[in-house]
Amino acid sequence: MNLTDIHLQVRDMARDFAEGAIRPIAEALDAEERFPAELYAQMRELGLFGIGVPEEMGGPGFDTLTYALVMEELSRGYASVADQCGLVELITTLLVRHGTDAQRNRWMADVMTAKTRVAYCITEPEAGTDVSGIRTEAVRDGDGWILNGGKIWIHNAPVADLGFVLARTDREAGHRGMSIFVVDLHASGLERGPKEHKVGQRA
Ligand SMILES: Cc1cc2nc3c(=O)[nH]c(=O)nc-3n(C[C@H](O)[C@H](O)[C@H](O)COP(=O)(O)OP(=O)(O)OC[C@H]3O[C@@H](n4cnc5c(N)ncnc54)[C@H](O)[C@@H]3O)c2cc1C
Repeated sequence: MNLTDIHLQVRDMARDFAEGAIRPIAEALDAEERFPAELYAQMRELGLFGIGVPEEMGGPGFDTLTYALVMEELSRGYASVADQCGLVELITTLLVRHGTDAQRNRWMADVMTAKTRVAYCITEPEAGTDVSGIRTEAVRDGDGWILNGGKIWIHNAPVADLGFVLARTDREAGHRGMSIFVVDLHASGLERGPKEHKVGQRA
């Protein structure tokens, strides 16, 4: 693999952070199942969130290989921390590729710095691998929408501020009749279930 100087610099920075800051507390984090906000604040300072966001949208505009190198290093530190980086990357990619200017102006900076905690809300009890089975429905209500339904296995659900929620908008249109809605997870009418006790990646 041909790595450029930039690839090597970013990889080494992520490696140092994983070895110096993540690994020493990884076991304790997994035992305590604690959300390590202090690590994410450091990652924000290091620019390890939103790696692929283009410069004109406020990011460093790194390529996918840089992202893969960072994920590899963070995962070696502790997979839960890498997951947070991956989740922010996923959501910022959604905003870059499918968001409107208004959505990017409103959310990108805070999502990219992990000041706003996000969740990607797709899976339901009856719809995992086969996403076309989702039952959550979105119905027009004046200028907005009302969403009814429930999701499971949602990373960050206990702490997230903003959910990117897949819902059905047109039952007749099958798998084409769905959209992702940006939902304020502090809105009234929203309930968070109990946190699951997992076999690993518990922070
Ligand atoms: C730790 C963790 C974090 C997660 N975080 C999130 C999250 O943040 N957001 C979110 O939306 N979801 C999340 N998920 C859910 C995850 O995306 C689903 O678990 C996944 O999509 C699989 O769905 P399922 O568990 O219902 O399994 P199923 O879809 O029931 O699949 C079970 C098994 O059957 C196989 N299978 C299914 N359909 C077929 C088929 N047609 N042909 C052949 N084989 C098939 C699958 O490969 C699998 O081996 C998370 C899950 C875990 C474990």
